[in-house]
Amino acid sequence: DLATRQGERERVYDASSDQSSRENLVLLSGFRRALAGGELCLHHQPKWHLGRERVTGTEALLRWQHPEHGLLTPVRFIPQLENSHLIHELTPWVVRAALRDLADLQARSRDWQVAMNLSARNLNDDGLLGDMERALGETGTSPEQLEVEVTESAVLADPDRASRVLGRLRDWGVGVAIDDFGAGQTSLGYLRRLPASTLKIDRSLICQLAPGSSDHRIVESVAGLGRRLGMEVVAEGVEDRATLEAVRRAGCDAVQGYGVCPPRPLETVCANWAPRVERRAGRAIRSPGEG
Ligand code: C2E
Ligand code: MG
Ligand code: MG
Ligand code: MG
Repeated sequence: DLATRQGERERVYDASSDQSSRENLVLLSGFRRALAGGELCLHHQPKWHLGRERVTGTEALLRWQHPEHGLLTPVRFIPQLENSHLIHELTPWVVRAALRDLADLQARSRDWQVAMNLSARNLNDDGLLGDMERALGETGTSPEQLEVEVTESAVLADPDRASRVLGRLRDWGVGVAIDDFGAGQTSLGYLRRLPASTLKIDRSLICQLAPGSSDHRIVESVAGLGRRLGMEVVAEGVEDRATLEAVRRAGCDAVQGYGVCPPRPLETVCANWAPRVERRAGRAIRSPGEG
């Protein structure tokens, strides 16, 4: 009966949390080896500009090619890293890797921007600005081609400091994107305070957006707001043609999502999105109802 069932549930719960904390420990203990041994890499997801009908940049997304667990996405290890000092070793790695990839793109004559994600702990890392300055110098890349993506929660962790750091980056010419906008309890005051150049509308508002729905009116309003504040508005998580048409009509400037291209190694993205392919894709993406 109830007591027994509750007891069972607790036992089950304990067992699984035990199991997962053991897994976390195993993962964390391998992280230094991963950093040193080339197990970390960045995949890139293109951002498709609707008006210009071309890729204008990519977002760098961290991956861990784990020897036993396979390819891990950030949800599997970033939260654990954030609870440990190891997160401070990740920040310079991501900065350098993203800028090396940007330099690689420039060497291929691709004028794409590269966006990198910063979590709260990255943003509050004392070394961040110095790491960026050094990596920009070493790779010879221009700050205008770099963008950082931050979420509201990363900013709220220490708003004054975040505005200061992001303001410095903006002064250098680095773009600042507000990521996952509309997820969680977003406050409009924070939009005004942040020196942001891009507004990315969260996947939860975008996925399977139907014309005429209340979600559509929300996205339309948010897009209008972002544009009036002088930001480029990006819809995240566009998975199909109908959604792409809906966000276009809602006034978004650019899209990202599996429907355009999933995150892939930079080599693959470059091979799949040669300028000739882009022109073809542009025509395909423009004409609705094609599949
Ligand atoms: P994010 O910055 O909002 O990135 C978008 C996430 O949505 C990515 O997940 C991407 O693979 C996924 N996605 C893209 N298009 C679609 C779609 O059409 N449908 C669906 N269902 N998903 C889509 P990913 O790569 O697992 O990254 C998750 C989060 O981890 C990122 O969210 C970002 O907050 C964080 N992250 C990624 N790379 C880094 C990094 O280098 N450093 C830090 N601190 N955080 C990172
Ligand atoms: Mg992002
Ligand atoms: Mg996002
Ligand atoms: Mg997200």
